[in-house]
Amino acid sequence: MTLDEIAAITGGHLVNADPAATVTGGVEYDTRALLPGGLFVAFAGEKVDGHDFAAGAIAAGATGVLGTRDTGQPGIVVDDPLRALAALAAVVVTRLPDLVVVGLTGSSGKTTTKDYIGQLLAHLGETVAPAGSLNNELGFPYTVLKATPATRFLVLEMGARGIGHIRYLTDMARPRIGVVLNVGAAHIGEFGSVEGTAQAKGELVEALDDTGVAILNADDPLVSAMAARTGARVVLVGEAAAATVRAEDVTLDDRGRAAYTLVTTSGSAPVRLAVTGRHQVGNTLAAAAVALEAGMGPAAVAAALGEVGIVSGRRMDVFDRADGVTVIDDSYNANPSSTAAALRALAAMGEGRRTIAVLGFMAELGEHEISGHQEVGRLAAELGVDRLVAVAGDAAPILQGAATVPAFKGEAVLAADQAEAVALLRDDLQPGDVVLVKGSRYRTWEVADALRADAA
Ligand code: ATP
Ligand code: MG
Repeated sequence: MTLDEIAAITGGHLVNADPAATVTGGVEYDTRALLPGGLFVAFAGEKVDGHDFAAGAIAAGATGVLGTRDTGQPGIVVDDPLRALAALAAVVVTRLPDLVVVGLTGSSGKTTTKDYIGQLLAHLGETVAPAGSLNNELGFPYTVLKATPATRFLVLEMGARGIGHIRYLTDMARPRIGVVLNVGAAHIGEFGSVEGTAQAKGELVEALDDTGVAILNADDPLVSAMAARTGARVVLVGEAAAATVRAEDVTLDDRGRAAYTLVTTSGSAPVRLAVTGRHQVGNTLAAAAVALEAGMGPAAVAAALGEVGIVSGRRMDVFDRADGVTVIDDSYNANPSSTAAALRALAAMGEGRRTIAVLGFMAELGEHEISGHQEVGRLAAELGVDRLVAVAGDAAPILQGAATVPAFKGEAVLAADQAEAVALLRDDLQPGDVVLVKGSRYRTWEVADALRADAA
């Protein structure tokens, strides 16, 4: 595309630029990742102003700068760079008629499953499914703009913090395949209730037309009910009998890895996963359904599922230290559903071993904050965790929850902060221990990082 075309699409105006200069190197807002011939998008953030990097971007070979003011460099000035990116993304998709767009949403496991889908579809053709959680009004168009005429599959994670958010994304890139994983308590603070969450997530399948496919979780009633909200063909996945892409005979090994029989309408095949957690059954079934729709056979899907890994970090990342301690770093994010999944994985790995759960604060729960923390504490106690460490005062209700379980014989402690949690663990860890570290983002991952560094 020429700068002139981009200006027309985005409603911006050219400054200091040759209208015929062509963008060939994609769109980037991080100068470190910029390719020659790229378009550099400058955002004015609170701490960093992208416009300050405009000259550097041009020096590094960018064709132009898209921003909200004239930086003296060749480029396009727009009112709102996010809207400009969205407009550009929408046009790029319409210019790639053979591209198969896959959209997925859910409360937990979007990034994980997006990575699985990307790895499966890569067996069939060039696939764009970048690592990380690029699911909002910034990351989404940015991902869409990575598609080129050579791309066959574009896999898009869609996040929602309210009604209309997913519709905004589906208007930009109309998916042919839409996947809804689950509806749980993630970001419930914004939605108020799980029904509100379901309303928002279902916008994905509402956007599919009758040439599309809605892949819905048969094991989650709020998700399977979305079948009534779509004109697309529905494929149910799960363990329920109604699912046509189904897992049967699920077993877990001592690393919490599931094996199952993948049952489809075109045959069955054994699957042995390399990733940890019972919840990966649902995630991998959803990915399998996408690959089957894209033309892969059940045996090939089953074999490929055995190879999938988690490429976006700090999600069920299991590592063994030289001292015999196993750590589950699941510190990317936390909500009651994903914490329950992680605690179950810890329990599955705890056969004959001491289990320690280090749980930080779960953000974005709104009025469910106290009850959400109590709920996970109760579950940890019911699962018989040997040691429960809540990190920082706002996570204290976890301990209150554990205290309501009479059978709980474990030790429950509150660490004042991340450093104290690390100190507690260092004093106590023994060979054979399994430690789960989970919480909302960076504050808790400091604990996981310390456990990793100790092992080095
Ligand atoms: P975000 O809303 O932050 O983008 P996400 O939906 O992309 O989250 P992931 O980043 O894949 O989800 O995973 C977040 C957490 O949820 C991780 O701890 C992961 O292990 C856990 N998780 C993944 N899949 C599931 C699932 N099906 N059910 C419950 N928890 C899950
Ligand atoms: Mg994500």
